[in-house]
Amino acid sequence: MSSINYTKNLEVKKEYDVIVCGGGVAGVAAAVTAANNGLKTLLIEKSNILGGLGTLGLINLFVPMCNGRGKQIIFGLCEKWTRLSAEYGFDTIPDEWKEGEPKEYTEVRYIQRYSPYIFAFQLLEEVEKSGADLLYDCIACDPVMEGNVCRGVITESKGGTEYYSCKMLIDTTGDCDVLRRAGVPTVAGANFFTYLGKLVSIDSCRRAVERNNIFDAFTTIAGGPINLWGDDQPADVPLWAGLDVDEVTDYLKVNQKLMLENVKKTHKDSREIAMIPLMPQFRTTCHILGDYSLQVDDVYKHFDDSVCAINDFEHRDYLWEVPLRTLCRRDYPNMMTAGRSASGDGYAWDLLRVIPAAIITGQAVGEAVALAIRDGVGVADVNIKELQNKLTAENVMIHFPDEYVPEDKTIILHGKNASEITGGHF
Ligand SMILES: Cc1cc2nc3c(=O)[nH]c(=O)nc-3n(C[C@H](O)[C@H](O)[C@H](O)COP(=O)(O)OP(=O)(O)OC[C@H]3O[C@@H](n4cnc5c(N)ncnc54)[C@H](O)[C@@H]3O)c2cc1C
Repeated sequence: MSSINYTKNLEVKKEYDVIVCGGGVAGVAAAVTAANNGLKTLLIEKSNILGGLGTLGLINLFVPMCNGRGKQIIFGLCEKWTRLSAEYGFDTIPDEWKEGEPKEYTEVRYIQRYSPYIFAFQLLEEVEKSGADLLYDCIACDPVMEGNVCRGVITESKGGTEYYSCKMLIDTTGDCDVLRRAGVPTVAGANFFTYLGKLVSIDSCRRAVERNNIFDAFTTIAGGPINLWGDDQPADVPLWAGLDVDEVTDYLKVNQKLMLENVKKTHKDSREIAMIPLMPQFRTTCHILGDYSLQVDDVYKHFDDSVCAINDFEHRDYLWEVPLRTLCRRDYPNMMTAGRSASGDGYAWDLLRVIPAAIITGQAVGEAVALAIRDGVGVADVNIKELQNKLTAENVMIHFPDEYVPEDKTIILHGKNASEITGGHF
């Protein structure tokens, strides 16, 4: 095997206060929030649209943002973007929630299934309004480190290899690409056999016309069809870690061939694949091992350093708070994460990764880096009360009200006691 010693001398192309790597919903939230604080901010996105799994990956559903008893838990930028997505794209917000939190008790949950591409363009508008710079079709490759302090990031794009410097780096690549390469400890995941696209057919179009609703023109077409709980994962299909190019390619090939087989079963002249996921539908490749990892057993617990409250999207009542420590490590003072690479164990990690939680943790890190820069401290040492006050002023719920906590605090997840679901759930 031959090898080369491949080095380049790079000048700093541009200096930033904050660089956000990865323009999924968490990254956009972080970048917009940092820029709204007057920080010179760069958002780097490797694809051609914003929103990540939430748009490019066709995961176009804000899962429930309430406790299942008519009380909203997740607000802030998530509330703003939920309403925004319903303005021009599909509006599937239940009637009970159309005007905000219902006045009457309801078990109908607050969700919104939106148009992925219209929402992606709305996110672009949000970034532009904030004044953050954006690079599309640009990969954040390696962090430039001095010890555990990040000085910037090396990128690859049409222009070649470039270097952007920063005071704070936020890795929202979803895969911890940059933090992992910086040496931040991470926890690898594994993924079920899932690849879901959208099909249109003559029948679905007819239905849409009959109901006068374009939403009904789309149906789901699957490669691998496996759900959140891995029900029916075929024994002969491995879980994919998704952390190297061979595995990613294998996942895509297997799923694309299966989707074609499934298409062949539909009628030739009456259908078309309208959208496929243009990034792998991996729930997790890896997440950071933060100063704290959220636990299922933290349900109903208040944390002094909470930056937001979140609810369970599958079950009623269950509430958690997200400590700042799940988004950073004290030994890496100017690097943070948010969204699906936040630190959590088992199902607690699932709670952190979904779109509403990803947006709200993105907003939290955008504010945290602003305070850290202002005060010249590491991200783990920001003035937590001030951070909480800023987020509260932006309509984020920091601590859930105790009156939302039910008397029976038992947690049953997917029919199992919480203690039976530890660590291995993806
Ligand atoms: C099958 C499946 C079903 C799901 N169902 C739901 C659901 O119904 N509702 C829900 O709320 N959530 C759901 N989720 C979870 C949710 O979609 C994601 O966890 C969430 O969107 C993650 O957002 P994020 O911003 O953290 O990361 P991502 O959406 O992964 O965004 C990461 C972004 O970074 C970019 N990027 C990656 N690497 C680099 C790099 N090196 N340089 C530059 N850019 C880079 C990517 O292109 C992407 O845009 C589901 C997930 C999956 C996989």
